[in-house]
Amino acid sequence: MSNKTLRIIFILSVVCAILTIATQFFLIKKAYELEKTTFNTHVTIALKNVAVHLLKMNNNFSQVDSIVSQVEDNFYTVRVNDKIDSTVLETLLKRELNTQQIKIDFEILVYDCESENVKFRKYISLNKTEENSDIIPAKFPKNLKENNYFAVHFPHLDTFLNKEMITWGFSSLVLFLFLVILAYAIFTIFRQKRLSEIQKDFVNNMTHEFKTPLATIKISSEVLKNPNIINNPERLLNYATIISNETEHLTHQVERVLQMAKSGRDVISLNKEWVELQPMLEEIIDKTYKPLIRSRGGDIKVQMLCNSIHFEVDKLHLKNVIGNLLDNAVKYCKNKPSILITCNEEKDIISISIKDNGIGISKENLPHVFDRFYRIPTGNLHDVKGFGLGLNYVRLICKQHGGDIKVSSEVEKGSEFCIFIPKKFKR
Ligand code: ADP
Repeated sequence: MSNKTLRIIFILSVVCAILTIATQFFLIKKAYELEKTTFNTHVTIALKNVAVHLLKMNNNFSQVDSIVSQVEDNFYTVRVNDKIDSTVLETLLKRELNTQQIKIDFEILVYDCESENVKFRKYISLNKTEENSDIIPAKFPKNLKENNYFAVHFPHLDTFLNKEMITWGFSSLVLFLFLVILAYAIFTIFRQKRLSEIQKDFVNNMTHEFKTPLATIKISSEVLKNPNIINNPERLLNYATIISNETEHLTHQVERVLQMAKSGRDVISLNKEWVELQPMLEEIIDKTYKPLIRSRGGDIKVQMLCNSIHFEVDKLHLKNVIGNLLDNAVKYCKNKPSILITCNEEKDIISISIKDNGIGISKENLPHVFDRFYRIPTGNLHDVKGFGLGLNYVRLICKQHGGDIKVSSEVEKGSEFCIFIPKKFKR
């Protein structure tokens, strides 16, 4: 799948998710309003029926249209303009509200226009124990003063409506879960894509790394096939040395890849021994790096801030670690390499810092350099060979020793990698 298709899928998914969430909110709002309207309609019908019954009992057959008004969401007044028997009113209200499926606590208030007082007030609870609870009623509206009327107050209307919305809550939860799964699926696609790119890069790099020595070996062996070469022992030795060196180089590369593959399992068994740092460093530098750096007109210096540093480490792995860091310091330097190694011992922690004057690493790439297979993107230009495994191995070995590695770098100025290893290995 191309990057463009992936980007389109991602954008479309985000847009769809936003639209789905917005639609869900809109539907929930609409459903809530509908619940409220339905409640209002049922209550109005029930109250109208109550009023009709009350008037009929008083032999009053006047019009009952628009005698019910909703003063607030949960407060209704009914203008009866006639005598109101509170006991009859209570019975009628219970019956009519029940018929309309309004199963919720309510409060009855009967207003006496003569005395301008509430002459009867009762809280009716579906749960009998709450019969006397003192719920603050809504205020009686003054403009209805000229008529005798009663009012019904539903103090728990919000709770009732919220309960009615439970199915919507459940559907929102399902939608939310679906969106989380979708986000996870997209994240997995991106991760897989990155992994497959890394894998492709790795195969490319490996092919590059093996191609050159193999080509050299092939050419040299072609030369050796010539029977006349026997007459020229110097040339013969030369080509045999080339083959031997390239084979060694290839073996070293294969060894490195195998080592990295092993490091992927995140545990390496260490053979600890007491080692003196300075001679080990000199051995690595003098044998390989001094000649290499000198051939490029550069220099390498070692600065010991403490005399005779000894520590308990796996010598072979630690040599590989230092070798990897020095390899990088030389590889990622376009000018004459100038490398400074500083060693110190403080509070039983040995630090080895390798500072170069190379191309440096930008801030956004710096946190990733220790990731497996990570190579700083250089477009399609593979001028510096590598597998993106070296620093990952270096960090693993440091951690296995109970230590750590830190890096600081500035583009075009250089980088400094500093490893910290405890003097004594903690078992
Ligand atoms: P590689 O085999 O590619 O060198 P590493 O794991 O050793 O793999 O390094 C990861 C990446 O970090 C490299 O591809 C390189 O871009 C960057 N890097 C490592 N060391 C240095 C350095 N001393 N200077 C600049 N860049 C570096």
